[in-house]
Amino acid sequence: MAARVGKSYAGPSTTHHQMTRTETLGVVGGGQLGRMLAEAAAPLGVEVVVLDPTPECPASPVARDQIVAEFDDEEGVQELAARADYLTYEIELADPDLLESVEREYDVPVNPDPETLRTIQDKLVQKRTLREAGIPVPEFRQVDDRADVAAAAEEFGYPVMLKAREGGYDGRGNVPIADETEVEDALASVSGGAMVEEFVAFEREVSVIGAKGDGETATFPLGENVHREEILRETVVPARTDEEVGERAREVAEDVLDLLSGRGVYGIELFETPEGEILVNEIAPRPHNSGHYTIEGALTSQFEQHARAVTGRPLGATDLRGPVVSANLLGDVEERQRAEISGDEAILAHPGASYHWYGKHEVYPLRKMGHLTLVRRDDETPERLLRDARDLRDEVTFE
Ligand code: ADP
Repeated sequence: MAARVGKSYAGPSTTHHQMTRTETLGVVGGGQLGRMLAEAAAPLGVEVVVLDPTPECPASPVARDQIVAEFDDEEGVQELAARADYLTYEIELADPDLLESVEREYDVPVNPDPETLRTIQDKLVQKRTLREAGIPVPEFRQVDDRADVAAAAEEFGYPVMLKAREGGYDGRGNVPIADETEVEDALASVSGGAMVEEFVAFEREVSVIGAKGDGETATFPLGENVHREEILRETVVPARTDEEVGERAREVAEDVLDLLSGRGVYGIELFETPEGEILVNEIAPRPHNSGHYTIEGALTSQFEQHARAVTGRPLGATDLRGPVVSANLLGDVEERQRAEISGDEAILAHPGASYHWYGKHEVYPLRKMGHLTLVRRDDETPERLLRDARDLRDEVTFE
């Protein structure tokens, strides 16, 4: 039987190609998200080609191919488009203008919509778009100088959170301001435009992984996220909160999915306030760290869901298989060095634990190097699962 690889097949027999056709998904970005996407796409008959500037990026060993180029490299993205049946991105640094131009030029659908990426890239525009749609968000103001920051802080009350409008991730670009003596230094540490947000004294951080398909949407159960130093450490699912809060979060997530255009998975980060209100912190137009638990914990993983959505396939079921906890394996080193992990055997030896190594050659402080997932086997409480996951995580070191 003739297999057709992407658009490049030019062999003699095309009679059976619809049954055997392998499609190609081009992905801007080849980090761990691209790696797990490629793993999940393969069983659907979808091969992944990634574009990433780092040779031997995490996705490269599992993808069909890697184009080594910057995320906004015109020729690189054109080559990706020429080879792909569908395009997506796993990093917000993708260039929406370039994606729009290759979408037209190469007649290849880009999802989520590049316009959605453009909105999300600028945290201020993102928050305004949400607020205008009536979606609950923390109070925020655009700030251009000290006077603006002081005025916003006066209005919201200290502490406040200063955020760079663009380019921040894992808390980089966010500066808490405790009082007016910190305004000047905070502003100096943020490059480009900025915004100030009220500091939300949240009860817990939660998230919904949502997907938009072809005229359908689906949401995974509410996850509870534990952050330290603004970096996600663990996710507990289902979130240990009231059912009404979970329902409210799902409604907000559905409103977000309605608002944004383009098929795909979205990571919707939320704050639950002490009053049980839900506020949207931010949205990622891609699979999200807090959804990694879905690989073992749900009927469809967020990566398979993304592959289904962006290739126009039906969405999969989002039911939980059972209570589950995931924990990030972060760089515990003082400075950048070659990545040599030890202690990971403990994860492999633990029944019900799954290990995901991202294949990064270098480690630096708090870099996301892998994660582990622990599913319930007997009748362990969520607390017990979380404690076991943390113990396993603590066995791992790069020192
Ligand atoms: P990034 O884009 O770097 O992930 P976020 O804006 O999501 O940044 O913030 C990272 C973390 O910082 C959040 O998960 C939360 O713990 C904290 N944070 C962000 N905004 C606020 C806020 N307005 N009030 C309180 N904490 C916040």
